[in-house]
Amino acid sequence: MNNQLIDSQGRHFPYLRLSITDMCNYSCQYCLPDGYQCDTRKDYLSITEIHHLITAFAALGTWKIRLTGGEPTLRRDLTDIIKTIKSIPGIRQIAMTTNGYKLKQRVSGWVDAGLTHLNASVDTLDPRLFNSLTGHDRLTEILEGIDHALTLPLKKIKLNAVLLKKVNSHLFREYARLLKNKKLSMRFIELMQTGDNYEYFKKYHVSAQVLKNFLLSEGWSEKLKDIGSGPALEYIHPEYEGSFGVISPYSKDFCKSCNRLRVSSTGDFHLCLFGEQGYSIRHLLQHSSQQEELQSRLCQLLNKKNDKHFLHDGNTGITPHLASVGG
Ligand code: SAM
Repeated sequence: MNNQLIDSQGRHFPYLRLSITDMCNYSCQYCLPDGYQCDTRKDYLSITEIHHLITAFAALGTWKIRLTGGEPTLRRDLTDIIKTIKSIPGIRQIAMTTNGYKLKQRVSGWVDAGLTHLNASVDTLDPRLFNSLTGHDRLTEILEGIDHALTLPLKKIKLNAVLLKKVNSHLFREYARLLKNKKLSMRFIELMQTGDNYEYFKKYHVSAQVLKNFLLSEGWSEKLKDIGSGPALEYIHPEYEGSFGVISPYSKDFCKSCNRLRVSSTGDFHLCLFGEQGYSIRHLLQHSSQQEELQSRLCQLLNKKNDKHFLHDGNTGITPHLASVGG
């Protein structure tokens, strides 16, 4: 079989975002303001199932895997998951998005296991505000963890901040200071509406254009994109080691460069973060003899991918919050 993941719009999918748990220990106001709620024990994908899944994606041309959640570091077998993915031929990047919990103590173990890229969420540089936004007074320890990560052989470290009106949208200069001498990418993500956060969204959503305007007025310039890169824009400045990144899901043509697919922590294949449904492929992850069937099912399902999300119409699909599918 020589199939590749290419959809009806001609988009290629080198990138899979794999949620390994939907559990989270933080209660970010825009995501899980009341904390993680679940009264039944969930059966997350096992290492063997993850191995079969990634082997199929790699055979179809995927080379970048991002582990996410929920909070991926809550999985006790995280290091083994990373090692397993690293052993699969064709996988060149293993990235992870984390809230930075115990980062300093654990990051070198993940890098030894094969982690190549790290994103840590830091919505504000003010410790008190961080506490009220996330429910945890841990900003200082996360920033120490980032400093430690900078000494390790990671290919890229990004800080993620959700752009929030009058919370961090007027403080770009503070972030710029952080980037002066540190090789970090400070990535702002425009707040997205989800099933659960409508009131919050109405109050705090602001277009990423405010950041783009700030960057252009301060001498930052948009970096040319590599072929096949996703929808994020990157801005660089000759006097700064670090860079800014901007993800603006409400901008025109955002979905044209979509290069990612998602699998949930219980084995549902999602064609879009804001789609109407996931397709269970777990029954095809049980044995290596199912590879051919799994690969053809993935290619077949990809035909259902829409050309764009419908967030502009307030249609958030089945996603109550980003922890559910994997943000
Ligand atoms: N727990 C990890 C973390 O905190 O980074 C990974 C999962 S979290 C859902 C992934 C990313 O999605 C985080 O950077 C988070 O800030 C972002 N996020 C969550 N809800 C969002 C929303 N409604 N709009 C934009 N970004 C959101």
